[in-house]
Amino acid sequence: MILLLAGTLEARQIAWGLVDQGLPVEASMAGATRKPERLPLPTRIGGFGGEDGFRAYLAEKGVTKVLDATHPFAAQITDRTARVCADLALPYCQLLRPGWVPEKEDDWTFVDAPDAVAQHIPQHATVFLATGRQTLAQFKGLRGRRVLARIVDPPTAPFPFEGGEYVIARPPFPLDREVDLFTQLGVTHLVAKNAGGPAGVAKLTAARQLGLPVIMINRPAMPAATRVSTVQQALDWIKTA
Ligand code: NAP
Repeated sequence: MILLLAGTLEARQIAWGLVDQGLPVEASMAGATRKPERLPLPTRIGGFGGEDGFRAYLAEKGVTKVLDATHPFAAQITDRTARVCADLALPYCQLLRPGWVPEKEDDWTFVDAPDAVAQHIPQHATVFLATGRQTLAQFKGLRGRRVLARIVDPPTAPFPFEGGEYVIARPPFPLDREVDLFTQLGVTHLVAKNAGGPAGVAKLTAARQLGLPVIMINRPAMPAATRVSTVQQALDWIKTA
């Protein structure tokens, strides 16, 4: 059985690419989003229960290869899967889409971690955090600024630090909506993770149009492993590995 580690647009496209091929595949989603879009393949949802649980799952399901199409910032699952597959001599491939690169009108500052963001943002700023719900607490150095964090599902906990507010919105976020939102909220700085891909790029185009500085968080280091950058390459790998 092929295991497709999912949670991205590309994983969904791979699932659709595999649907008529009659291959035994199971997709796996972390379960971070409360109402994830369904995949056209048998899908399990939720963590495996750590490394032991993951190893047990691989054995129980007779997994023969693993395609990792998780988010570029989902470093734990990628590191562990690459390592366990290498240990078990299971073919493993990561699909990692290219990161975003600035254009000449852009004002981007690159940092390696959330705790390095605050030093690039003045106290009077209105900061839009497009970095996801899970890592909000890591931006506590922004305390004192007006911080607006966009999340998909309604919050289950108060904002993790003073001065923060949630902006609840479900994608897609087209360019005109991003421009309107940043203008209405009086955003002066955008913080983003360099996820890459078309789905999240409009916020960066909106920042360019509005002349807003962007603090861009670099991707975590990736393990040494087989890696492709497009859905087609990933589908080809599944056929040949
Ligand atoms: P992670 O930190 O790499 O993984 C944490 C744990 O989640 C794993 O150890 C595993 O639990 C479980 N997990 C992750 N992906 C899974 C999958 N496809 N199937 C089953 N279990 C899975 O990954 P993350 O928690 O998903 O995300 C980490 C960061 O990535 C977030 O903070 C966010 O910045 C970014 N992210 C963004 C988006 C987005 O749409 N913007 C989506 C996903 C992630 P067990 O150890 O129990 O197996």
